[in-house]
Amino acid sequence: MNFFFDYERRELADIFHPPFRAMQIYKSVYHRWFDDFELMTDLPKTSRTSFAEEWDIKLPAVHRRFDSADGTRRYLVRLSDGEFAETVFIPEEHRSTICISSQIGCALACTFCLTGQLGLTRHLSAGEIVSQVLVAQRDNLSWESRDSFNIVLMGMGEPLHNYDNVMKAIRILHDEHGLNMSMSRMTLSTAGLLPGIERLGNEPAIPNLAISLTGATNEKRNQLMPINRRYPIEELLDAVRRFPLKHRQRVTFEYVLLRGVTDAPQDALNLVKLLKDIRAKVNLIPLNEAEELGYKRPSDTAVERFQRVLIGHNISAFVRKNRGNDISAACGQLKKKWADEPQNVSFNH
Ligand code: SAH
Repeated sequence: MNFFFDYERRELADIFHPPFRAMQIYKSVYHRWFDDFELMTDLPKTSRTSFAEEWDIKLPAVHRRFDSADGTRRYLVRLSDGEFAETVFIPEEHRSTICISSQIGCALACTFCLTGQLGLTRHLSAGEIVSQVLVAQRDNLSWESRDSFNIVLMGMGEPLHNYDNVMKAIRILHDEHGLNMSMSRMTLSTAGLLPGIERLGNEPAIPNLAISLTGATNEKRNQLMPINRRYPIEELLDAVRRFPLKHRQRVTFEYVLLRGVTDAPQDALNLVKLLKDIRAKVNLIPLNEAEELGYKRPSDTAVERFQRVLIGHNISAFVRKNRGNDISAACGQLKKKWADEPQNVSFNH
């Protein structure tokens, strides 16, 4: 069986005969949300049967859904080998956010991140990445509001470590005859895989770039994010300076605030120095605590003080709201299999 969501439209046009069948099926799947060839009455009956034998057009099942008091929902999407991709839907008034995973686990071992403790199990395929979006979209948005969301690659995994599948997924999501997501509505977040950033900058269509910085000196960043020993801050920021940006577009820097480690005014000043000639905006993320992590979240006062230093030096800085914390859906918390979940969470399915 071929998983339909793994394929770009132009690949399908080479596979299906006559080639216009590819377009018919593509629209049925992505626009009409059909998950059964029998519904595609514009295809000859015999083709419906033979396509159904070769092509899987069903979305993966939701194994569990965890609903947060603030409306955030976390999904365990069951993949063909029994692994789970974790996906988060974050409702917002105007435009919601769908946060998707690019890998099961992660190889980078950042010391403040729960996914980092898992190690890497495997990469996700393009279709496994695309279908997470479709699962969250169809479960949360009405037909009228079906396009009102952004996508962030900030779930489990390091997207640039799974470069080819991630870029293929982005192209499929971008396809004008599919979801038609514009590049400006998708954000790829990386811990700083420098060769991947350079490669991304040379793509014909480029999503927004977010860099997870967190340490503002090599000494600190080496401790927190081992990848920094391979690609230190100066080289990383040089690559960001070379990264092509559209008019008024900026690179987002995510900075996790860890009490007594990255939250001092001096850390903020170091960050100012690093970013002074970069078109940047900063997302400050107060640590989402977990027992397994040896760090604490700073006080609100420390967070505000840090933000004020950046703003005082003309750097846009926002504090990321903590969404879905009660269902382990917040940044850096994606880790646990359902068996480890506390019993008091609500879920459907
Ligand atoms: N590997 C990619 C994307 C996944 S992490 C990356 O590193 O960017 C998404 C964001 O969550 C990153 O900015 C990361 O720094 C942040 N994060 C990780 N653990 C966290 C935690 N415990 N609390 C708050 N943010 C965390």
